[in-house]
Amino acid sequence: MTRLDSAIRRLTAQRDLLDWASRLVAPTGFVLELGLGNGRTYDHLRNRLPGREIYVFERRPAAHPSCMPPDGYLLVGDMFETLPSFISAKGAHRCSLVHADIGTGDEALNREVALRLSPLLDGLLQPGGLLLADRAFALPHCADITAETGIPEGRYYVYRRTDEAGSPRVSDEEPASRLSL
Ligand code: SAM
Repeated sequence: MTRLDSAIRRLTAQRDLLDWASRLVAPTGFVLELGLGNGRTYDHLRNRLPGREIYVFERRPAAHPSCMPPDGYLLVGDMFETLPSFISAKGAHRCSLVHADIGTGDEALNREVALRLSPLLDGLLQPGGLLLADRAFALPHCADITAETGIPEGRYYVYRRTDEAGSPRVSDEEPASRLSL
C-alpha cells in the first residue's frame, strides 16, 4: 500500500465515522473538536450537526478562514492548559461527542498524550457520549466499540461511555464502514 493509499483510507475512515457519530449522537450535550488543523473535520462536523455547540481546542490556529470557529468557541493554547479550566466552567459529563485528531509521527509522544488526556475526556463525556480518535485512549468508564463500527482495527478508535441506562445500542446502527472501507 502506498502512503497515498494509506492517507486516503485514514481520511475515509475519519469521514465515515464523523457521519456515523453525527447520526447516533445524543440530541443534547456539546461537541469537542481537539485539534483544528486545517479545519477540515471541524467543517464536516458543523455541517453534519447544524446548530450544535462545537468547542475547538488548538494551540496554533491556522485553518482556512472559512473554517474558523465563531467567537467563544475556539480555545487557543495547549489543551492540557485550556481543558481543565473549560471542564471546571462547563461541569462534568456534559459532552456528547469528542473528536480527537492530534497525532504526530512520534508514537511514544502520541501514547503519552493519550494517557494524559484520557482522565480529562473520561470526565467530560456524558452517559452514552462518544469519543472518536486517531489513537487509542485508556478510558475507565468507556467501552472500546471500534469493532462495532466496522472500521478496521488500528485505523481509527471509537469509545462510548457505558454507565448509562436505556440509550440505543450502537450495534443496532448501520456500520460506519459500509459505504467505503
Ligand atoms: N482534524 C484536523 C483537520 O481535519 O484539518 C487536523 C488536525 S491536525 C492533524 C492536529 C492539530 O492538533 C494541529 O493543528 C496541532 O496544532 C493540534 N494540537 C496537537 N496537540 C495539541 C495540544 N496539546 N494542544 C492544542 N492543540 C494541539
